[in-house]
Amino acid sequence: VWCETVVSESGVEHGVRFEAGADGRISARHDATSPAPGDLRLGTVVAGAGNAHSHAFHRVLRGRTHDDGGDFWHWRDAMYAAAAALEPDTSFTLARAVFAEMLVAGYTAVGEFHYLHHRADGSPYPHEFELALVAAAGEVGIRLTLLDTAYLEGGPGRPLEPAQRRFGDQDAAAYLSRWYELRQLVPSLGAALHSVRAVPPAAMAEIVAGLPSDVPLHVHLSEQPRENLDVLAAYGVTPTRLLADAGALSPRTSVVHATHLSEADIAVIGAAGATVVMCPTTEADLGDGIGPARALRDAGAVLALGSDQHAVIDPFLEARGLEMHERLGSGRRGAFSPAELAAASASGSYRALGLGGSSLAVGDPFDLVEVATDTVRTLGARPAQLLLAATSADVRRVLVAGHVVADSGVLAGGVHPADLLRDALAALDARHPAAAHRDDHARGATAHHAGRDRGGAGIRIEPGGPA
Ligand SMILES: [Zn+2]
Repeated sequence: VWCETVVSESGVEHGVRFEAGADGRISARHDATSPAPGDLRLGTVVAGAGNAHSHAFHRVLRGRTHDDGGDFWHWRDAMYAAAAALEPDTSFTLARAVFAEMLVAGYTAVGEFHYLHHRADGSPYPHEFELALVAAAGEVGIRLTLLDTAYLEGGPGRPLEPAQRRFGDQDAAAYLSRWYELRQLVPSLGAALHSVRAVPPAAMAEIVAGLPSDVPLHVHLSEQPRENLDVLAAYGVTPTRLLADAGALSPRTSVVHATHLSEADIAVIGAAGATVVMCPTTEADLGDGIGPARALRDAGAVLALGSDQHAVIDPFLEARGLEMHERLGSGRRGAFSPAELAAASASGSYRALGLGGSSLAVGDPFDLVEVATDTVRTLGARPAQLLLAATSADVRRVLVAGHVVADSGVLAGGVHPADLLRDALAALDARHPAAAHRDDHARGATAHHAGRDRGGAGIRIEPGGPA
């Protein structure tokens, strides 16, 4: 593959020729050279983006939660309703559509933070949800690291809520035994602790010690102030301190969000050499807050990016969001250089998924994205600043393991992601007609929720309409 221009975290180079190894990695790279006969010729390319934090099924909520206000916890009720409606077959069709959307947007790898394991009553589906996700990624052609997630309680010292039974394992030993069975079926398996809300400290320590030491370990951390307050009340320390004391913070760890941290928390995460997965479009969409990304990087953490609940699937906007949040918080531009944003989008995110670096060097995954430089968005942009100008609409050919898997919004086989999504949503709505009328329910639930937040004072409107 010969590229006219390569924009990466190490700068801008012209006339770069890559050769592919049988392992899907770059086996040779020649700079400032001409194309050889038979080369696939590309224009301007960037390294494929890693999506280091995804819950594929959250995609059903896009465009359906913006009219009823509320906060993260209220949004979570709608997310639980979406989870309750899924079965392995609908999970497959939905994930296939979402992974397809990612691929044509320029994501070449995804870490699926997966906690929907069981039937509605909590009884096991023997790995069916997990294998559905693996099959969906395989069919589309995106790299997948499945982050199989431990979810043991509904909050510090509280049993799982009914809506959480599908997520829960009995205890740490049950999780580990399920994980090791799954590993026989899924070689690229990673692990996750849902959060310090959902896994008590002793179980965290048992899981960390029980997993192979080279497996990526992800955990949601301090996305909401309420998590900090609950954990402080239950254990007397911050969530970060709790993770560190359980042995859960190390270079193989990725903490997700890390929005509400103390100075000491930032130092602990940085000293551990952990990765921090920021999800700027989600953190804005859910009103989470602005995480201390620059301070974490300066303390020694590696930065990665994810699209999380998929209100937006666009690696350019995610990378840009990292910088824009810093600007909104500080009143200054340029907290991150374009090269640092590129590193978070590619290398940092690939590292979080256990895929090695992704700086387009020999030995890195051969995953490239061609970006059109002649569109209304990108004309005139300096190559090094493309990441701050382009969007996923400018993505042309996408290569995974050296093969073209998508071109201009269409999968290599000619399938449009929108067709996959239309079919997936139709199947879900047909099986659960209530979901199609979620708006009516949500409005009633909001009024109820608002009444509860005011301590029950005032008029309380129950779901189903005013009395
Ligand atoms: Zn998440």
